[in-house]
Amino acid sequence: EKHFTIALAGNPNSGKTTSFNSLTGSHQHVVNYPGVTVEKKIGYTKLDETKVELIDLPGTYSLTAYSQEEIVARRVLIEDKPDVALAVLNSVALERNLYLVLQIMELGVPVVLALNMIDEAKEQGMTINAKKLSELLGVPVIETIAKTGEGLKTALAESIKFAEEKKANKITPLVISYGTDIDLTLDKLSEKINQYPELINQYPTRWLALKFIENDFDIKQQIAKQNLELHNFLETQVNELTKHLQTTLGTFPEAVIADYRYGFISSLMRNGIVQRKENNAERIARSDK
Ligand code: GDP
Ligand code: MG
Repeated sequence: EKHFTIALAGNPNSGKTTSFNSLTGSHQHVVNYPGVTVEKKIGYTKLDETKVELIDLPGTYSLTAYSQEEIVARRVLIEDKPDVALAVLNSVALERNLYLVLQIMELGVPVVLALNMIDEAKEQGMTINAKKLSELLGVPVIETIAKTGEGLKTALAESIKFAEEKKANKITPLVISYGTDIDLTLDKLSEKINQYPELINQYPTRWLALKFIENDFDIKQQIAKQNLELHNFLETQVNELTKHLQTTLGTFPEAVIADYRYGFISSLMRNGIVQRKENNAERIARSDK
């Protein structure tokens, strides 16, 4: 008998809890994390003979250490190691919602996209090319309407199928370029991190390096606790990079990183992922001219 764990990830109000409730019904309970007020909801469902555990992650826009929700969401992804993340996206704000998806992909967690609220998108005259998005990102993309339950069973089935595929051929985390300066530092830090097997068992190497460059206090603290010498080495390298970026660009690494992530998404979107029909009011306004 097979058993899978799926984490529902997404921005606040994207429809995670509605999806979670629809899939698990009353088979759910709440777990509290030590030291934080954010709770973790666990639910159960079955697809044919496969038992599925679902985790309703707190809603976040990112996976930095900006809020308790973000720290909890990424700790679950890193420590509980779900087989797959089902990203529940608000289709109406697809571009913004993809920002989180990239970060889950950088973590090396297999991700399946639910284009939720597709009813709203259609109502607003938007068409989303799910097939193209799926090809470009290399992940399954399914249209859903969590409010009515439409597409949720398909999303569940695709998530399990994708998790099985990814188990068979180990997943490689998404690599985004952050420009020459940051990329070179990422390589240097990664080389050092790779000398510590106990760390690369816990985190993807490049992700850990990226968190140091982003000056992520939570991750830096974890590493300092485990290996102070490594922490200090990484910090010294990052300080040099930070000084360099400040003198050349007048900005901080975390801002450069965010810019490149948005740039990555913009170039995705330029492949005609979203088509907008003009609505009646716009058409009338145009013909009036
Ligand atoms: P969460 O913050 O991600 O857990 O979002 P919720 O599940 O609480 O949903 C936020 C709101 O969106 C609720 O009012 C839902 O009824 C509504 N909602 C969820 N899914 C859909 C959908 O597919 N279509 C529409 N129109 N509304 C939805
Ligand atoms: Mg919720």
